[in-house]
Amino acid sequence: MFKIGCHISSAGGYLAMGREALALNANTFAFFTRNPRGGRAKAIDPDDVAAYRELAADNAFATVVAHAPYTLNACAAKPGLRDFARETVADDLRRMEYIPGNYYNFHPGSHVQQGAEAGIAMIADMLNAVLTPEQSTVVLLETMSGKGSEVGRNFEELRAIFDKVELADKLGVCLDTCHVWDGGYDIVNDLDGVLAEFDRVIGLKRLLAVHLNDSMNPLGGHKDRHAKIGEGNIGLAALVRCINHPLLRELPFILETPNDSAGYAAEIKLLRAAYVA
Ligand code: FE
Ligand code: FE
Ligand code: ZN
Repeated sequence: MFKIGCHISSAGGYLAMGREALALNANTFAFFTRNPRGGRAKAIDPDDVAAYRELAADNAFATVVAHAPYTLNACAAKPGLRDFARETVADDLRRMEYIPGNYYNFHPGSHVQQGAEAGIAMIADMLNAVLTPEQSTVVLLETMSGKGSEVGRNFEELRAIFDKVELADKLGVCLDTCHVWDGGYDIVNDLDGVLAEFDRVIGLKRLLAVHLNDSMNPLGGHKDRHAKIGEGNIGLAALVRCINHPLLRELPFILETPNDSAGYAAEIKLLRAAYVA
């Protein structure tokens, strides 16, 4: 089954997100667990969650891919910022248990001149502090473009985090097509080779979701600016090869393209037509 969706606003609660997904002909989606800049989360309404879960079951929704606020930095230089990241992720993971068995994706962090090795150690420390054996949520590390001092700029850095986390079975990877392209992985001309490299370094069993975005920048640009599907340097043909690739085609694909609802609906329609059932 093709699992396709996009970012949906969480402002109206869970049932509203489920209805919006249906209206877009999506069967998965992403949402920010709180203000993307990282403020306080709204209280969860159990009735709203129950109504959402019924709708998701009735409509055979695939695993959804929540997104942590993108300003969290688990490897900030200031201890207060690292504490904030840890407390926010811990709170988000408690809240994710209201919708059990889904994914929670986060940007590993930016090491801000402390070096990648120090950053990797701090990210692993954060994960070791928040992951619990009981949780049903799988935490996804996102592949990053390598803008600034981002950690996760290549597969090796993500592998190094996995190797330091005790409950690594609670972890996976979300591959962002714009970010890996900007990071220098040529998914246009050598998708097979990129996936073979992913398998060699991290292991394909860790690859659990895809952020499907085109890129405004060239291969290896280390910029991270998303383009609409088919309007960037990756292009429609290469993105269609991604959704149909035997090693990717069963994963949830989340659009994070610069679109309003109508634009997302159009991209979902385009990709559904291009998916080889
Ligand atoms: Fe992201
Ligand atoms: Fe992404
Ligand atoms: Zn991005």
